[in-house]
Amino acid sequence: MFRSPAPISLTRAIEVFGLAFAYFACAALTLQLTRFGGGVAIVWPAGAVLFAKLVASPRHRWSLLVLSCLPAGVLAAAMFGFGRGVAVPLACISVGEAFAAAWLLKRVCRRIGRFQSIGEVSRFLAIAGALIPATGAVLGGWLAHYASGIPLRTAALDWYAGHALGLIALAPPLVLMFRGNLSRWRSTASRHDAFEAVGLLGAVAGACAVTFGQNDIPLVMLPLLPMIAATFRLGRFGAVASVVLLMSIGMGCSLAGLGPTTLLAGAMGVKLQVLQVYFATVVLILLPIAAELKARRRLTERLKAAETLHRLVLDRTGDIVMRLGVDGTIRYASPSVIQASGYTAEELNGRSALDLVHVDDLPMVIETRTRALAAEDQRAVAEYRVVRKDGSVSWVESHMRATIGDDGRVTGTVSIVREINERRKATEALTLQAITDPLTGLGNRRAFDVALADRLAAVGSGSAVGCLALFDLDHFKRVNDQHGHATGDEVLRGFAQLLQASIRDGDLAVRLGGEEFAILLGGATPEQAHLVCDRIRQRLASTEMRSAAGEPVRVTVSAGLSPLAASIEPAELLARTDTALYRAKHEGRNRLALVA
Ligand code: GH3
Ligand code: MG
Ligand code: MG
Repeated sequence: MFRSPAPISLTRAIEVFGLAFAYFACAALTLQLTRFGGGVAIVWPAGAVLFAKLVASPRHRWSLLVLSCLPAGVLAAAMFGFGRGVAVPLACISVGEAFAAAWLLKRVCRRIGRFQSIGEVSRFLAIAGALIPATGAVLGGWLAHYASGIPLRTAALDWYAGHALGLIALAPPLVLMFRGNLSRWRSTASRHDAFEAVGLLGAVAGACAVTFGQNDIPLVMLPLLPMIAATFRLGRFGAVASVVLLMSIGMGCSLAGLGPTTLLAGAMGVKLQVLQVYFATVVLILLPIAAELKARRRLTERLKAAETLHRLVLDRTGDIVMRLGVDGTIRYASPSVIQASGYTAEELNGRSALDLVHVDDLPMVIETRTRALAAEDQRAVAEYRVVRKDGSVSWVESHMRATIGDDGRVTGTVSIVREINERRKATEALTLQAITDPLTGLGNRRAFDVALADRLAAVGSGSAVGCLALFDLDHFKRVNDQHGHATGDEVLRGFAQLLQASIRDGDLAVRLGGEEFAILLGGATPEQAHLVCDRIRQRLASTEMRSAAGEPVRVTVSAGLSPLAASIEPAELLARTDTALYRAKHEGRNRLALVA
């Protein structure tokens, strides 16, 4: 079905006519006021008006906006320019410049018209301040030269200066105004902000009035002071508003024959050009500052948000997060550090983290930290004891990683520390279980093997002597047979207690299995060991135990005894001692036999 094109609303129509009118007014005024010696206009704000409107509008409206300015440009050029003959091509070049600048900028910048990043500002300058007006100046300058006979060089240079400076100085404030950024600032500003803005912009206006309202002292730097202050305090709004104030007051006064330009020798055209260079310089100082400030403000906001999140996580987690300097000084500890150390985070700040580490674990912790500092991208893990404020000891596990500074150098470590007392207890219980005989509570075969290997190594290195004794209860099968297995177990437990009570601290008694036991006597000569073992034998023989049924139970034991010798393998030593034990059995039991 045929659909009629969408009607243009009244507001749109006013907008389009308004733009055309503004373009015409700017062009007519500057052509009338700033053409000196029949040359091109020295000031050209019309291009900035169209450029700013295009940048602030969606692409589908561009053609209408450009087309509305064309007749306005033609009319102004025909009435106040070089006459009807070249009015159309001159208007086409001027309007074309604004269009081409907006189009190109849109091609190279994803989002344009905010003037909030250094990248966008520099692209804007390259396109609107150099490329486009230079191209326009060649074409327009040539046409003006052709139409009026003014020298080509003068025409082209004046054109370039007027159009480039007009775009640079005027486009940013106009874009922001058309986009509604300035009124948006007003709506988000607090009362205090508004007072500050009025004060700062008042100061800008005052400085501009003092600078441009008199002809005696060239105070051209004076307005920059409040303008930079306004930019720092009010951001982009402050920069743009003070630029608008500067340009209105500066241009108005200069055209009225006031201000520092009157001190310049030369025609009005030159004075206006100098003024435009001044305006453009101020814009070029303030816009990048405003852009950079905005970027920093955003970064600070992001950092603050990240830090808030970070603190929230740290406050809620039981894990401790610590940041240390390269020398181990605590730079930050999360609040939960008090649980593991007894110290508050404030108390620890500035202290060395190594002060908290148990002295036995220090070398290992230092080694792990050195490893973390050396391998930047790797995590190092250490399990160590922390000495708490009250002197008690707590086990922790620490995962640490190096932190890198802006210059790529290591600045310290961050670690996540967790208390592992429960885990440690469970592991220790399991380890103990693995080396303990459940019936008697003595060490088992595994504990014995490890201890024997250690003792032999110690003997081997010449630091200790000692003896090994193997015990086997005599006719134990009969105890079980006559009094039952439970009584047999009781006898085994009793004998284990007897063994344990007969040896010194540092000696070891184990149940090797069944009714076989062993003791390792550190530092004992064979004679001393013989005495110890014989006392055990005698005590057992003289002990009368009771069965579950209350009957008397008597048990004896035989033992084989061997000194620990350097350069002998554990298995060999065991075999020899076993042979001695076998001999003791063979010779009648309830006796000791020494390895031959
Ligand atoms: P010998 O004097 O030659 O050593 O005689 P024995 O009866 O002690 O000899 P043997 O080594 O053949 O028997 C050991 C017995 O120890 C066999 C087994 O019933 C008993 N026994 C082994 N482990 C346990 C235990 O855990 N509890 C009880 N009650 N008896 C055990
Ligand atoms: Mg046996
Ligand atoms: Mg036996």
